[in-house]
Amino acid sequence: MPTFENSDSTADNVHSDRRFGVEHGGIHKPIHTSVQYGFDRIEELIGVFQGTLKGGYSYARQGTPTSAALETKITRLEQGVGTISFATGMAAISAIFLTLLRAGDHVVSSRYVFGNTNSILDTIQGFGINVSKVDAGSVAAVEAALLPTTRIVFVETIANPGTQIPDLVAIGDLCRARGIVYVIDNTILSPALFQPRAVGASLVVQSLTKTIAGHGTALGGAVTDTGLFDWTQYPNIAATYRKGDPTLWGLQQIRKKGLRDMGGTLSPEQAHSISIGAETLNLRVQQTSATALALAEWLAAHPKISAVHYPGLPSHPHHAQAKQLFKAYSWLLSFELHDAAAMSDVLNRLQLPIKATGLGDTRTLIIPVAPTIFWEAGAEVRAQMGIADGLVRLSVGLESLDDLIADFAQALA
Ligand SMILES: *Cc1c(COP(=O)(O)O)cnc(C)c1O
Repeated sequence: MPTFENSDSTADNVHSDRRFGVEHGGIHKPIHTSVQYGFDRIEELIGVFQGTLKGGYSYARQGTPTSAALETKITRLEQGVGTISFATGMAAISAIFLTLLRAGDHVVSSRYVFGNTNSILDTIQGFGINVSKVDAGSVAAVEAALLPTTRIVFVETIANPGTQIPDLVAIGDLCRARGIVYVIDNTILSPALFQPRAVGASLVVQSLTKTIAGHGTALGGAVTDTGLFDWTQYPNIAATYRKGDPTLWGLQQIRKKGLRDMGGTLSPEQAHSISIGAETLNLRVQQTSATALALAEWLAAHPKISAVHYPGLPSHPHHAQAKQLFKAYSWLLSFELHDAAAMSDVLNRLQLPIKATGLGDTRTLIIPVAPTIFWEAGAEVRAQMGIADGLVRLSVGLESLDDLIADFAQALA
């Protein structure tokens, strides 16, 4: 396994872009906006096309020095062997499915996944890929769904909005034993709170838009290879990508098919903006997780609240696992009111949380789930995913705990 001399993620996060050449002494990586890259000698251009000139660029759809700096940062945060950045989290997720699967293959996914991930899983079924959606809280349900054609198991670390947690360790053991690619969406926790490599993930995917950028002003996504999967055993790697270090075969195919052919490329401006946001990742998640835990405890004790879903509460069904695996429980929580009919009035009385979709912003965001983000899914899917009509999702920001509690107290009074 590759080891890094400096595995302190805080130092890596802040300094990684400077470890690969500083231009003019600027202490922040500049934004490279050039689409084309030229060379003095034609052999160098040929080397870029043939992959023999390391660190070379030809055309920005496949990457720029700015996106590469961000990719290095994410690789180090996730202790992986390489990362590919994308224009959005959904571009990263769809690239995994569309570049690594073929008609006739089978995917097992957690039933509790991001709504648009659930939707792309339906789309790929139209391409002849079979998908089973299971309650991944139990490894037995995942194992029971496996077929000889199962290529990928897909889960999220903490599901939005219900905060369910899969049986992360046992599913990792199962995937390793069966030679299946284990994909973990780490968007909610981020590598600052949990590195999916620790439970045997093959690929880590994230929406950089959320926790990592943190400021809600840039969209981005990333796929990181942890180096744990043996790509020589994966049938769908094309002969042309079965070259060089086998730990990078999967990423080579994802970059060539997912970026070069499908074109979901992260722009250099957004890559830069996300990199700047990532420098404060550790500070932000520490504060928002502490605030979310205290707010969850306060809400759970409030007589008008019937349920609070937050892995930091001992009442959460997966609390023990979360406590063992995660450094903190994240900024995501959801709750239900006893009187679901009062929901709109309560939300309208709140002054501080912004009524908006979105997650992982510096500002607290609040949204009723059933009539908005899960409206298109319909009542049946909502019931399967455990989404009650009165469920409210909260993405806790950087406001002070006292201010948030005072606001909820007056809105619920
Ligand atoms: C938001 C989100 C995505 C999609 O990310 P975008 O950057 O919005 O495309 C994927 N997974 C999870 C868990 C998310 O919260």
